[in-house]
Order: sequence, then structure tokens, then C-alpha cells
Amino acid sequence: MKVINQFKMQLDSHSANESFARTAIATFVAQLDPTLEEISDIRTAVSEAVTNCIVHAYKEKIGVIYITVKIYDGKKVVIRIRDKGCGIENIEQAMQPMFTTGGPDRAGIGFAVMQSFTDKLKVSSKVGYGTTVVMHKTIASRQNDRA
Ligand code: ATP
Ligand code: MG
Repeated sequence: MKVINQFKMQLDSHSANESFARTAIATFVAQLDPTLEEISDIRTAVSEAVTNCIVHAYKEKIGVIYITVKIYDGKKVVIRIRDKGCGIENIEQAMQPMFTTGGPDRAGIGFAVMQSFTDKLKVSSKVGYGTTVVMHKTIASRQNDRA
């Protein structure tokens, strides 16, 4: 697969940066002429992943969130969101809907949301080293797309 375009950014895990991250990524993906629904799916999935870095990975401290977005041939978008926070002990369990370590304020549905709003979700993590979430989403072709 050929990379057509890409961007990378690093940002501090302040909660104010969540909306910045989702807007920046949505704006970058806008060059593929997505539908409102596709762009909204991406915003929602990114929001969940970045929020997890802020509230779980780094908890009370402020750490760095590393984001890479790559656009491949065929309007394929791959979004990678990585933290160097606490890590996840049991990924399978963490990805179960309703599982949360966040107490009563959290619903435990972030991973389920990421899964349903993207085509593919991959989570890797190491306790004490951090977590990487990779999301794939293909933007549908339009009639006026060039061949
Ligand atoms: P919600 O997203 O509904 O507010 P939640 O964040 O607890 O609740 P998920 O996003 O599905 O639900 O995450 C499930 C659990 O996985 C979290 O409670 C947390 O224990 C763990 N987790 C998720 N992302 C990270 C991360 N980046 N670093 C460390 N732990 C994480
Ligand atoms: Mg969450």
C-alpha cells in the first residue's frame, strides 16, 4: 500500500487537547471528501482514544500523546494514537463493553465505540510502557472521484 499523505503530532494530555486532536484529524481527513457521517465516525473514535490517554494512561499527570495519520491509496485512513502511560494489563478484558477501571463516571464503552465507528481496531500495550491504538477507516469512493 502506498502512502499518499501523512501527518504526525505530539500533544500534552490536557483535556482541552482532546477537541483539538479530533478536529485536527478530521480536518486532515477532509481532503478525501468524506461524508458527514464518515467524518463524524472518525471524530468520535479519535475522541475516545485520546480521552483514554488523558484519563487512564496518564491519570493525574500530564504526558505526551503521539498521533500519526496516514492516508493510503484507495482513500484508506490509518490513525495511530500512542501514549507512554501506565499500559493495560489485560487488553481482551479492557475491550469488553462495560469494563472500566474508571469508576462510576465511566461507562466502559470507549473501545466498543472505536470498534463500531471504524473498519478495524488494533490495541497493543505493555504495563509500565504505554498503549498504542491503531484504527483503520476507508472513505467510500464518490462518483466524481478520479479513477
Ligand atoms: P468510557 O470510555 O465509556 O468513558 P472507559 O474509558 O473506562 O469508559 P474504555 O475506553 O472502553 O472504557 O476502556 C476500558 C478500560 O481500558 C479503561 O477503563 C482502562 O482501564 C483501560 N484503558 C483504555 N485505554 C487505556 C490507555 N490508553 N492506557 C491505560 N489504560 C487504558
Ligand atoms: Mg474510554
